[in-house]
Amino acid sequence: MRLSTSSGWTWKSWRKSRRMLGWATGVWAGWQPASWTPWPHWGGIRYEYGIFNQKIRDGWQVEEADDWLRHGNPWEKARPEYMLPVHFYGRVEHSASGAKWIDTQVVLALPYDTPVPGYMNNTVNTMRLWSARAPNDFNLRDFNVGDYIQAVLDRNLAENISRVLYPNDNFFEGKELRLKQEYFVVAATLQDIIRRFKASKFGSTDSVRTVFDSFPDQVAIQLNDTHPAMAIPELMRIFVDIEKLPWDKAWDITKRTFAYTNHTVLPEALERWPVDLVEKLLPRHLQIIYEINQRHLDHIASLFPNDVGRLRRMSLIEEGDTKRINMAHLCIVGSHAVNGVAKIHSEIVKSQVFEDFAELEPEKFQNKTNGITPRRWLLLCNPGLAELIAEKIGEDYVRDLSQLTKLHKFVDDDLFIREVAKVKQENKVKFALYLEKEYKVKINPSSMFDVHVKRIHEYKRQLMNCLHIITMYNRIRRDPAKLFVPRTVIIGGKAAPGYHMAKMIIKLINAVAQVVNNDPVVGSKLKVIFLENYRVSLAEKVIPATDLSEQISTAGTEASGTGNMKFMLNGALTIGTMDGANVEMAEEAGEENLFIFGMRVEDVTELDRKGYNAQLYYDRLPELKQAVDQIKSGFFSPDDPNLFNDVVNMLFHHDRFKVFADYEAYVKCQEKVSELYLNSKAWTKMVIRNIAAAGKFSSDRTIKEYARDIWHVEPSDLKIPPPNEPRDAGQDKTPNGTAA
Ligand SMILES: *Cc1c(COP(=O)(O)O)cnc(C)c1O
Repeated sequence: MRLSTSSGWTWKSWRKSRRMLGWATGVWAGWQPASWTPWPHWGGIRYEYGIFNQKIRDGWQVEEADDWLRHGNPWEKARPEYMLPVHFYGRVEHSASGAKWIDTQVVLALPYDTPVPGYMNNTVNTMRLWSARAPNDFNLRDFNVGDYIQAVLDRNLAENISRVLYPNDNFFEGKELRLKQEYFVVAATLQDIIRRFKASKFGSTDSVRTVFDSFPDQVAIQLNDTHPAMAIPELMRIFVDIEKLPWDKAWDITKRTFAYTNHTVLPEALERWPVDLVEKLLPRHLQIIYEINQRHLDHIASLFPNDVGRLRRMSLIEEGDTKRINMAHLCIVGSHAVNGVAKIHSEIVKSQVFEDFAELEPEKFQNKTNGITPRRWLLLCNPGLAELIAEKIGEDYVRDLSQLTKLHKFVDDDLFIREVAKVKQENKVKFALYLEKEYKVKINPSSMFDVHVKRIHEYKRQLMNCLHIITMYNRIRRDPAKLFVPRTVIIGGKAAPGYHMAKMIIKLINAVAQVVNNDPVVGSKLKVIFLENYRVSLAEKVIPATDLSEQISTAGTEASGTGNMKFMLNGALTIGTMDGANVEMAEEAGEENLFIFGMRVEDVTELDRKGYNAQLYYDRLPELKQAVDQIKSGFFSPDDPNLFNDVVNMLFHHDRFKVFADYEAYVKCQEKVSELYLNSKAWTKMVIRNIAAAGKFSSDRTIKEYARDIWHVEPSDLKIPPPNEPRDAGQDKTPNGTAA
């Protein structure tokens, strides 16, 4: 192992820092609706079963339960002393003293704390995850007296709330259990925040009541997507029904507390909960949402008289077959800031998806481009590259990733170029050995590793990659003697279990792999691997070994992407569309240092206006026709020639993501990729320019921007001493003076 000699970055401290790395987390790694400043807590559900494990059987995805707690979890600490009740169902009684939510069913929320150490900053934050517990008198007091056994068995019903994570990606499914989960985490977290606020020096009382005027200065709640949106009516319920604040005051405090991050513009992903379901589960919250909406619409009507269309478009309630609550509208109205997660996405949020809201309050709308933590996604997963960089520019870049620009000096340094290439080659060999050991598949480490790993979704266009593979295969067979730059195409990702087309895409990739990998004419020129059970621990292995990163979503559909950033930082080149954060990667590195192709957002819009006709591309492009005909005729599924009928039919008649329209530009761009790969030195120089430009994509930068522009918290200039040194007088108290 090579070591930094400049400033005592010894093997020992390196090891120490690496042990800490397991806790470094991306901003949006989980569901984090709440944070306390300056002492953040990250709230979520302690699911008993996480995202399923994916098995591939005969080319099909099969799901297995992820029993991650089977062997225990030494990092968590149950905190039964902070257990809180969460109410469901019941009815609302109105009287002179206000609204009362009564006859509810109670589930207990048991918190588990996991420490989240900062990177060499003597700070440890807390991630607090809630587990559902039935009260000991569950079903015994009122109902099932005389059936004790059944009552104990029914405790499972209450505890099912934290049983399992819903595996959908970018898709809304209006299931009652999911709504229970969303309210469960919100109700527990808000009670926890209020409890701690009251215990702090800010939660003063005037004779009987808590004064909440300083609440927004002490508490910031970032709604990570609309999933915790019920926090808005819940905080209003606490303020108005329990703390007896006047509505207008409660609403002012609420709005100044919340901010909302939008994560997608795909309409099928936007949460629209049926009013009937909310009325049954959370009757008081529905009344509060109606009241918020009434005041909101009165305000719009006063600004835009006689504009019924605008009122309908901006309402929190959608009329129709089933009446629904638009949760994004609720979040925008109830927040003081709204942001997208990449420049282009934030522009689309403003100009298209929530146009009316941006017209009403343009100053509310912001951008916060996503980032990744360089601790996990460089130091931990790619120590060879991390050390090589440290030798050139020192180790400070680990906490200030913008310092990677210092690498620009070394773009023409032949020794450095060879060393960067060598680290990549070592990572590729290591990954090839891993595949051979774990999956008994052999790949050629001197071929180009062309990697497309992410959730399987039509908008991410794994099908376009598949058409390119088939095109390369047909070219090799047409002229086996012609020079071909050897490639190993690696595709991986989970399909949502209920997403038929995504599961067919996995089967198709495996079917194509079966034919390509066993054709003697192809030999070692082209191999196709479907990477089973793609997850963070596998990402940490495959990304450092990647030459080419596939980021090929239809322009305007990928909000940001973070996979793209991980690859860039680990010395892969990107083939991608002008979508999500790819746009800013090109801006940082120079468009000439990425392989950018295909339609821009404006081109997609224009094509929609004209009407997208897939048949035209099929008729005009013989290689596309050949590939599609092969899929259609059963060339890759001889035992069941009609297997992929649904896929082909979709591509021709209802492809919302326009695969055929970008196929030609994609294939041409891939030819340029192969050509550059032949010139190892030129390739590696481009890699170095990319790494040098990756500094913007640190989650440290992202978090600082949230802190400055949304939470309005200043970085502290207090140096926190290590735990073995005494703290200064006055600094030994926790920020709000409490122990929890
Ligand atoms: C980073 C990451 C993602 C996100 O990838 P995108 O390409 O941005 O969709 C998904 N899954 C895993 C396991 C990841 O590490």
